[in-house]
Amino acid sequence: MVEIKYVPSICPYCGTGCGINFVVKDGKIIGVEPYKRHPVNEGKVCPKGNFGYQFINREDRLTTPLIKENGEFREASWDEALDLVANKLKEVSDEDPNKVGFYACARSPNENIYITQKLARVACGTQNVDHCARICHGPTVAGLATTFGSGAMTNGFDSIKEADYIFCIGSNNMEAHPLFGRKMIQAKQNGAKLVVLDPRFTPTAKIADEYVQFETGTDVALMNAMIKVIIDKGLQDDEFIANRTKGYEEMKEVVQKYDLDMASEITG
Ligand code: SF4
Repeated sequence: MVEIKYVPSICPYCGTGCGINFVVKDGKIIGVEPYKRHPVNEGKVCPKGNFGYQFINREDRLTTPLIKENGEFREASWDEALDLVANKLKEVSDEDPNKVGFYACARSPNENIYITQKLARVACGTQNVDHCARICHGPTVAGLATTFGSGAMTNGFDSIKEADYIFCIGSNNMEAHPLFGRKMIQAKQNGAKLVVLDPRFTPTAKIADEYVQFETGTDVALMNAMIKVIIDKGLQDDEFIANRTKGYEEMKEVVQKYDLDMASEITG
């Protein structure tokens, strides 16, 4: 008799943490089914979550550690591989801790990342610990920290569906972050207005109430002109500016030259 089981789990593909049910037949994962009560994704998954299980049963998947000797890989036991790595790490960090560096994975849970930095700092005595998110998030972390005071998202993933107005610039959530795009659709169903500004008419632009197209690389002129219009028309929130912001007067100076004609010429 064929035995099919549904095993609740968390999609391992990205940091969103969607709940999924693996469909297991004769001890082998053969598909993914919705996990409807999961609060993050409420039964929906993106294409990566739907098909990302396929690597598990691929024939070329590594299932055992490999050690390279004389230019060739050979299979090894976990004990042998771990001993080799531990001995080499000790040898090099005893010689000079700065010769060792640790590079962590963005999909690792916080606990693993915590242990990684402990291993680097305490066991090997080095400050060389980094994270792959630096490659894709270097500019966003710096920008967010300057703008919002924190280099990370300042609100909960779920709170977007409570928004009244969503201003989305240069971000194609419906394709790039479909689960987030879904929250935007829920916000729209709750009555929010969605405005999308993007050089490309993306799937996110398609669901917008208002779409603004501009030439690639002209976002700053567009934003500056919008700020100038807001100030000229007295639409700004003075109390918020006084209590929560810095450098407002300097910014006001900067945007003075961006009238609508100039911005229109730059942004197309
Ligand atoms: S967004 Fe997609 S890849 Fe990320 S956890 Fe959810 S289903 Fe998996």
